[in-house]
Amino acid sequence: MSRIPTLGSRIATLDTRKAKPLPKKADPHYQTAEHEAWAEFVKKRAGYRCEHVDDGKRCWRSVEKGYRLFADHIVEIKDDPSRALDRDNGRCLCGSHHTIKTLEERKNRMSR
Ligand SMILES: [Zn+2]
Repeated sequence: MSRIPTLGSRIATLDTRKAKPLPKKADPHYQTAEHEAWAEFVKKRAGYRCEHVDDGKRCWRSVEKGYRLFADHIVEIKDDPSRALDRDNGRCLCGSHHTIKTLEERKNRMSR
């Protein structure tokens, strides 16, 4: 008998968490249809494969192999907003390389 109310309150807790706003780092630009089209172009051009090159070898991660890929801004939007939709400023990266790039960018930013 007491199980039902417990379950009920659990669900309520989950719902509250879900309703929390997204982290504030989400720039509204990333939600636009223009960005979506740009990102799709960049990933398609790369053949849905990561474009990171290490020691002359291109990263092997791809959508085909089950990896999620990201369209990355070579020059970040924060540094040059006019290049946000510049196709030449886009590069397709796998999750690992995207994370590495983001961390390096942050490090460089702090040392500037
Ligand atoms: Zn990669």
